[in-house]
Amino acid sequence: MKNLTFEQFNMEPNFRTVKLKVGQIFGNAKLFKEAVREYAIKQGRSIWFPCNEKSQVQGVCKCKLDSCPWLVWASCYEKNSTTLMIKTLNDKHTCPRVQKNRLTNFAWLAKRYMEALRLRKEFKMFDFLGKVQKDYVCQPSKAQVYRAKRKIGLIIEGSLTTQYAKLWDYVE
Ligand SMILES: [Zn+2]
Repeated sequence: MKNLTFEQFNMEPNFRTVKLKVGQIFGNAKLFKEAVREYAIKQGRSIWFPCNEKSQVQGVCKCKLDSCPWLVWASCYEKNSTTLMIKTLNDKHTCPRVQKNRLTNFAWLAKRYMEALRLRKEFKMFDFLGKVQKDYVCQPSKAQVYRAKRKIGLIIEGSLTTQYAKLWDYVE
């Protein structure tokens, strides 16, 4: 890419706040959704994608009240490119944080904490749960954390790199 004046989005590896901005660009739709997902979990919001294509993605807030105006829309940065740019963002939620976020499923947990658990072979369930709660101020179920830990264990033991690549397919 040449003459990029827009900010390229970088996923923070250390779980700091994800900031979304108009003009931010993403290598492809998958990376964009990954960032929005990260944002949503951090913010304690349940966001979904009613429009989900390679060339354009729209994310909206899926709260129980159904009236939250939060919205993000990204589409092709230039013709015949997979790069997406955030064109619209209404970053104000009128909904409360959700405690149990359906986005924090086992596949997301496994993907997000793979490296941390790879480095620490003896990671107890309780520690794992505590770390997720601290990083994201969210409360995934014990069953999700257990499944994630088990999945990570299997991948690490078997060095199943193809399995690792497949994790995002579950997340999708
Ligand atoms: Zn909302």
